[in-house]
Amino acid sequence: MFGKKECFNCSEKAKKVHMAKTVDGQYLCRSCQGLLSRYYPGCFVSTKDEVMEHLGYMKKMKRVYEGVFSDDEEKITVMNTNLGIVISPKTGFFKVIDNEWGEFNSRADVELFRLDQINRYEVYSNHKQGVYVGNGAFIDCGVKVYMNNTRKEEYNKYKPAKNQKMHPYVFELDIVTASDDKLTPMDTFENQGLKVAYEIADIFDRLLGTDKETVSENRVKFAALADEFLA
Ligand SMILES: [Zn+2]
Repeated sequence: MFGKKECFNCSEKAKKVHMAKTVDGQYLCRSCQGLLSRYYPGCFVSTKDEVMEHLGYMKKMKRVYEGVFSDDEEKITVMNTNLGIVISPKTGFFKVIDNEWGEFNSRADVELFRLDQINRYEVYSNHKQGVYVGNGAFIDCGVKVYMNNTRKEEYNKYKPAKNQKMHPYVFELDIVTASDDKLTPMDTFENQGLKVAYEIADIFDRLLGTDKETVSENRVKFAALADEFLA
């Protein structure tokens, strides 16, 4: 039919304007776009094969998320209202929690990250003094997690060993613990957010270690776990 294209993943036909086009001219329907990671660079910079590979990756994550990750009763949850992290040292994975986003994108909200792929992390706070939106100041704080990544290797604090796995598309992961554009001087929301952010960094310190040797050892341990569950 004129103006309609077939989705390369599910074969559904839809209007071209509702579809995402890959660099090699293939189309992905809106429903299938809802399966992509929020961190994925997108169809428009990827080939059909790359998108298919990513959809397969997300399917695997969904299996682990709904299986061993959900079943782990010793998971560590650190949250400020609806933002934070869930860590499963037993399986080697963690999940970024942003419930507001997750409710709207539930099919993609199954993505897990591997503890062994964490390169470094830091607590950040962007409190833009004097920047007012409406009646309040703008705040944004949390933990930035830098993943082992070949594309920006110069940013790696710990040089990944040859046998270590790199994250396929995420370099920088933002675990937001407070975000608000109406902060008043009396508000404690930012303090709560920072408290949670430091708590997350402390847990990473405890799980991964803080010196090069321990980090390396623990990464091997977590990599073995993650590999086992993704196999
Ligand atoms: Zn589709």
